[in-house]
Amino acid sequence: MRFKQQIFGATLAAFMSSQAAWAAWDQKPNHYHVTITNDGKRAHIKADLYVEGNELALFGVSTLPTLKNGQGDFLENIVVQDMAGKPVALTDKGEAEYVVAEGDRRLALTYEVRLEHAKYHWPGGVEEVLYHTDEGIMAVGHSLFLVPGVAMPGKTEVSFTLPQGWKANTPWLAGSKPGSFVAATRRELVNNAMFLGTAHSERFMAGGVELTLVMGKRYWPQKALFMDLMRRQLAAYQTLFGGPPRTSRYLVVINDGDISDGGAFAGSFSQIIKGEADASSRVIWGRIVAHELLHFWNGHTLVPAEPGDEWFKEGVTDYLTLMTLVRNQVMDRKFLLNNLENLPRGQGVARNLMGLKSTVREAVNDKHGNWLLVYGGGTIAALAMDVELRKATQGKVGMPQLMQSVYAEFGQPGKRYTQADIVRHGRKLAGIDLQPTLERIVNSTTLLDLEPLMADIGLRLHQFGMLETHLLPDPKATPAARKRFADIFGMPL
Ligand SMILES: [Zn+2]
Repeated sequence: MRFKQQIFGATLAAFMSSQAAWAAWDQKPNHYHVTITNDGKRAHIKADLYVEGNELALFGVSTLPTLKNGQGDFLENIVVQDMAGKPVALTDKGEAEYVVAEGDRRLALTYEVRLEHAKYHWPGGVEEVLYHTDEGIMAVGHSLFLVPGVAMPGKTEVSFTLPQGWKANTPWLAGSKPGSFVAATRRELVNNAMFLGTAHSERFMAGGVELTLVMGKRYWPQKALFMDLMRRQLAAYQTLFGGPPRTSRYLVVINDGDISDGGAFAGSFSQIIKGEADASSRVIWGRIVAHELLHFWNGHTLVPAEPGDEWFKEGVTDYLTLMTLVRNQVMDRKFLLNNLENLPRGQGVARNLMGLKSTVREAVNDKHGNWLLVYGGGTIAALAMDVELRKATQGKVGMPQLMQSVYAEFGQPGKRYTQADIVRHGRKLAGIDLQPTLERIVNSTTLLDLEPLMADIGLRLHQFGMLETHLLPDPKATPAARKRFADIFGMPL
């Protein structure tokens, strides 16, 4: 759920400015060979890669009070040589950034990674970094692969030597040798989850996407439930956005953990579930699965230009997840009303109990501390846009049409949307200005009055004291409000 922004720094600008320097590139693929020791505690990595510029780095680094270099503190014995075997000096700049004495050439690299990541408390959760189960290791590429910081031309071939009986499950294309893989870009290499071990896996097609599901043995008996939900949701998303996501092959890794949470990557997502995952607990695990799958469209294909637009990535994803789960009859009316009721309750908790003072846009600065604002505030903004669009067009245009329109323009590599783009598409489709509605929600520092918005979809909001919140179908709802509710959620009020 906590979808951490994978910061690629000034990568885009660096990419643009480095096009000319690529002329020096030797046109060969990069290679990484990963050996996991039999006790699973260490990775030995041997690589050769073309280093554009003179920087090497781990991406996705989170520094912690107890790990001042973040994931860089697990790297040991880094040795760099040129391809003739001559040593190349390496300077450690801290936070997993290094400078090589001689760059703009192919370099050979060996290093080790202590796989102790799960001993630490990561802001995005351990499922976005690396953890062990009794069946193997889930690792995100940025925990293992030291890569050129500026640019990494060419594809990358990855191979593994693993403990007896282990298999590498990755979202990458199969390579020419058995057990080898090809990552097309640096993003594909580092911004992805993989599972190395003995866990069950199955490949299947859903919504035009090839999915490989890897599940811990505790949950494997329930795989049909998971696959059914994934099939229905992916098909719905394909229709909703009017096309496939940027990547057509995905790996999904699901294991048990201390909490229920997930993280989405370029071509994969990593989920942990606390407790049983069966039909009765589907409201918990199913919502996370559905949310992370939707990020393949909104989040990884449709990408915001500014951190302040995080509410659109998370909140609109939550709103569309809720809408499609009930329209698909994966979740019922009770789930819908509970989730809608949690919106005013959550804003009350955020503003009155937690005393959060930032706007929804600014809340991204502490996304995990302010998640009620980023996710809840963003969901409210999505519902408000949906209602305004439908009011202006007698129900002909709503969020699905807005998403299709925005996706058609921005759902491609290198294009990024802003709030102004969303407003522009709203004006084009429905002839209205969504900006005042959005500003009232995403630029406010005070508690929103949600009664009018809920009344617009036929629901009456009652709030008492700090927590007590009831959202009930209003027997006096207007026909227009009733129709709006039914149009959005595919069920009568
Ligand atoms: Zn998310």
